[in-house]
Amino acid sequence: MTPSADKIRICSIASGSNGNAYYVEYADEAVLVDAGISFRQLNIRAKIKKIDLRKIKAVFVSHEHSDHVRGLRSLCEKTGAVAYLTPLTARCCRAFYLPSSYSTFAAGEVVGVGGLTVHSFAKQHDASDPCSFRIEAGGISIGVMTDIGAPNLEMEAHLAQCNAVFLESNYDEQMLWDGKYPAYLKQRVASDVGHLSNAQSAQLVAEVAPPHLHTIILSHISADNNRPGIALKAFAGLRDRYNIITASRYEAGDIIDITADSWSVAQVHVPMPRLW
Ligand SMILES: [Zn+2]
Ligand SMILES: [Zn+2]
Repeated sequence: MTPSADKIRICSIASGSNGNAYYVEYADEAVLVDAGISFRQLNIRAKIKKIDLRKIKAVFVSHEHSDHVRGLRSLCEKTGAVAYLTPLTARCCRAFYLPSSYSTFAAGEVVGVGGLTVHSFAKQHDASDPCSFRIEAGGISIGVMTDIGAPNLEMEAHLAQCNAVFLESNYDEQMLWDGKYPAYLKQRVASDVGHLSNAQSAQLVAEVAPPHLHTIILSHISADNNRPGIALKAFAGLRDRYNIITASRYEAGDIIDITADSWSVAQVHVPMPRLW
C-alpha cells in the first residue's frame, strides 16, 4: 500500500541533557532516534501528542550516554521495537539499559526499517562509537544530528540532503565561559568532541544547507548555558529562509508534517491532562 500523500511526521519527544528521543514516522511505521527518557515519561509525552508507540519498529542509538539510552530497554521490551546499536556502543552501554536482544550496525551502514531507510554516519563526540542519522522515506529526508563537537564532512554531506533536521544548538559561547561549570567541563563542552554551539550550528546551516531544507529544529539546548530565545537569536539571519523552532527538554514538541518542499503542524487533539 502506498501512503496517500508522501509526508514524514516528526516530533521531538525529548531533547537535552536530561533525555533525548526523536520520533520519525512514515505511513504506519516509525523509528525513534535515542530513548533517553524513562518509558513512563515517554509514554506520557507520546499520549499527550497522540503518538502510538507501537508504531515504533526500531530505536537507533546515537551513543551510550545515559541521556540517549535511559529508556531503551523498557521501550524495546514493552513495544517489541528493535534496538540498533554499533557493537562498541552496545559494549559500552550500561548493562541495565541494554535490551536482552538487539541488532547491530556499523557507522556508514544503511538499514531499512519497513518503508524507512536509515543512513548512519560517524560523528565527533566523546563516546565510544558515536553516530548520527538521516532517515529517508518517500523522497523526503530527515536528519537527527545532536551531540557533535565539530561537524565532519559526512555530516555536511548528509545535511545537504535534508528537508528537515533536528540540529544541535547546545550552548551560547558567552554563557558557557561566564557560567558556573568547572573549567574542565567548559573545555569538554566546547571541544571538538563536545557539543555544537549556537554560532557553530548557525554557521553550518549558512554554509552547507541546501535549497530544499526548510525546517530546522534546534535541539539538545543546554539548560545552564543557553536559552531557546538565545539560540533562535543566533539564527536570526536565517529565519526568513527557514522554519526554525526549538526543541524542549520538558515536553514533546509539535508533531510536524514534512513534505519535500513544505511543513505544517499536524492538528492533534490534546486531551485535558488528568490531575488526580
Ligand atoms: Zn546528549
Ligand atoms: Zn553525549
